[in-house]
Amino acid sequence: MTKTPVTELYAQLMGLRSPWEVTEIELSHGDQEVRVHVSRRSGSRLRCPECDAICPGYDTRERRWRHLDTMQYRTLLIAQVPRVDCPQHGVRQVSVPWADPGSRFTALFEVLAIDWLLEASFAAVARQLRLSWDEVAGIQERAVRRGLERRDRQPPTHIGVDETSFQKRHEYVTTVNDLDEGVVLYVADDRTQASLDAFYEGMGEKGCAQLKSVVMDMWAPYITSTREHVPEADRKIVFDKFHVAKHLGDAVDRVRRQENRELRAEGDERLVKTKYWWLQNPDRMSLPQWREFAPLRHSRLKVARAWAIKEAAMLLWGYAKRGWAERMWKRWYDWAIRSRLEPVKRVARMIQNHWEGVLNAATSNVTNALSEGLNSKIQWIKRKACGYRNRERFRFAIYFHLGGLDLYPAALQSTHSKA
Ligand SMILES: [Zn+2]
Repeated sequence: MTKTPVTELYAQLMGLRSPWEVTEIELSHGDQEVRVHVSRRSGSRLRCPECDAICPGYDTRERRWRHLDTMQYRTLLIAQVPRVDCPQHGVRQVSVPWADPGSRFTALFEVLAIDWLLEASFAAVARQLRLSWDEVAGIQERAVRRGLERRDRQPPTHIGVDETSFQKRHEYVTTVNDLDEGVVLYVADDRTQASLDAFYEGMGEKGCAQLKSVVMDMWAPYITSTREHVPEADRKIVFDKFHVAKHLGDAVDRVRRQENRELRAEGDERLVKTKYWWLQNPDRMSLPQWREFAPLRHSRLKVARAWAIKEAAMLLWGYAKRGWAERMWKRWYDWAIRSRLEPVKRVARMIQNHWEGVLNAATSNVTNALSEGLNSKIQWIKRKACGYRNRERFRFAIYFHLGGLDLYPAALQSTHSKA
């Protein structure tokens, strides 16, 4: 090992190259801080950050960036940054190789924060890296904007459209997922027709024409939007098993609640605390649970009838022939509509009104299972955030975690690429 002066040591660790040089290292024990002073060698050519033209200098300003800590000490990079006077763009600050424009953190620090944000909550990242909530939010937002700007995807062929509630169910966001890639392509406010229109408009006519299927819930605004933008939409809209199961599950639960009230009024406690028996996927029940559930599901209770109808519908998927699927769904519909259970009849009517989309789903391999997975990750993002202050933050977080984006600062290449 050779002896290196401390300024040179920092220059090397930071990946600084000529014309930038470290002029001084200041150590403040009181503030537990290392301040690395950096400046440009005089006489080096200055370029406009916009057009790259060589321009006359205008003045110099001191700017600060938070860098990776030096051991237990916070570390700041303090630079005298020249401004140029570009004939075309006016007075501009020259770009620096260690940070993206506008950031108060070096690229390496942002990478650290981004890596932690991918794994931990906002609050934890803020605490551990000694940042304010807004600083963490700013790092995330810039990462997403960069990623979206760099995104250069082929138009998707199979998409899933989903809604997610935000803050006590009063507000929603709409997400559009690429079902082949398993990433979120688009996040919009609300769950209106306009929410989805904006996605299709961004895709353009050509992109929309390439879509082969659009998996979604039976939700009129999404259907209308898709019909208006996607050619032959009725052949491509798929109402998948997951959403049908959700509607039927809600119906079974309504029947149970009503019946439980009636039974308890007569002192019959059979349905108390049975909610999850009826909602759970039987495949996921253990054998003892399934046995314990037997007397209830074989009973003559209304909820047992509703449950049987729901479970029958869960078997009507994966048909090779549309004719078969149609016959079996017709039979199921007749059963459901004569069940004398209003919540079940409502779902049966809904399915009849969206007949093509359900048959598309029953005979296609495309399902929203991927969307379902993404949706549960969105729930995780929501929990982890401990309440985003606004919906915009929530949207950024979804893109950040699930957008499949290239999040790192551009400046990373210039400081980190050399051996
Ligand atoms: Zn310029």
